[in-house]
Amino acid sequence: MSTSTPSEQHHASVLVINSGSSSIKYQLVTPHDGAAVASGLVERIGETAGAVKHVAHGTTTRREVPVPDHGAGLRIVLGLFEEVGPDLQDAHVVAVGHRVVQGGDRFDGPVLVDAAVEHAIEELSPLAPLHNPPNLTGIRVGQALLPDVPHVAVFDTAFFRHLPDAAATYAIDADVAARYGVRRYGAHGTSHQYVSRQVAQILGRPVEDLHQIVLHLGNGASASAVRGGVAVETSMGMTPLEGLVMGTRSGDIDPAVVFHLYRNAGMSVDEIDDLLNRRSGIKGLSGENDFRALHDLVAAGDAGARLALDVYLHRLRKYIGAYHAVLGRLDVITFTAGVGENDDIVRASVLAGLEPLGIEVDAARNDGRKSEPTVISPDGARVTVLVVPTNEELAIARQAIEVVGA
Ligand code: AMP
Repeated sequence: MSTSTPSEQHHASVLVINSGSSSIKYQLVTPHDGAAVASGLVERIGETAGAVKHVAHGTTTRREVPVPDHGAGLRIVLGLFEEVGPDLQDAHVVAVGHRVVQGGDRFDGPVLVDAAVEHAIEELSPLAPLHNPPNLTGIRVGQALLPDVPHVAVFDTAFFRHLPDAAATYAIDADVAARYGVRRYGAHGTSHQYVSRQVAQILGRPVEDLHQIVLHLGNGASASAVRGGVAVETSMGMTPLEGLVMGTRSGDIDPAVVFHLYRNAGMSVDEIDDLLNRRSGIKGLSGENDFRALHDLVAAGDAGARLALDVYLHRLRKYIGAYHAVLGRLDVITFTAGVGENDDIVRASVLAGLEPLGIEVDAARNDGRKSEPTVISPDGARVTVLVVPTNEELAIARQAIEVVGA
């Protein structure tokens, strides 16, 4: 399929696959115009009742069928492409792009999948036990079902592979750290890279000239400091648990809390893992992990919700200050992902009072949800504040196209 004619290349598409432990998200993307031609989701893989949703040509097709494993899930998806379209032959699929969470210190960019890459993803699984194994499963079933198309792995850690050692290193026994791969790898890199480059395009300035802070605030949340297009700091660490307060994750915490709960609360390591990843963050403090519900509770006078929002904003503000110091000069702050794009209260609150640092938000420009890139700082402000919708699928598709040279 890489022997396409120039006119076919113009319409080339990439099937992007994000394979999780019990789900497969997919999107058929045409990178030249950024369109998502089709998208969908297979859920509850391995359970008795699976669910499949396929969106194409403006219509949504749903199936409630058992999906025993990822292979069955992807077969159903390919069947839906045949049945309701678009036809994958006509779509000139030149690559399949797979999201892989952990690339460790091995991958600083996208790669064509071969046996060595598969082996490396498997070897890195101890660092991302919930993610790399299902990512690899997605790659394997994808290759089995679409054997004539090149498969490309795009790593969530790649943009942060060359963090300065001072930022990437944990201050623990160096031999232990080296033996067990204990260092900061970051995550959400595809989004941070995509958004920081979009910012340069939107402002009409070379990315090399810009000192940026990117705030990816979704259910997972992370901040990065990007100097001249190169990531120099990020808030996620060895795993996506470090850093900002998130929907259900604690972010930064004294590691001794873990010993304390283990020794004195009788909790197992797995229970503490579950606590910090799934029962913490704003959900742990308020009972809700969605910001719309959180704001409703705050408006109704709920003290736990108010505290949750305050803790979230305080942590985020600390990171903005820290990254401002890391960068020295700051040109741009950009909000992205579900909360960053939609929540004007969070955007305004977290930057309130930072005028002495040259950071200001214009209330009218900030108002409402943003589905397009929007400047929300006043004209002439020292720091430009932006909202830029992220698009990880498009970023993966473009990287995949680059790798296969289509
Ligand atoms: P993401 O992980 O990027 O898909 O972001 C999901 C999160 O975005 C949800 O959990 C909500 O907290 C948040 N979100 C989505 N829509 C809105 C909205 N209209 N207002 C505030 N937060 C929103």
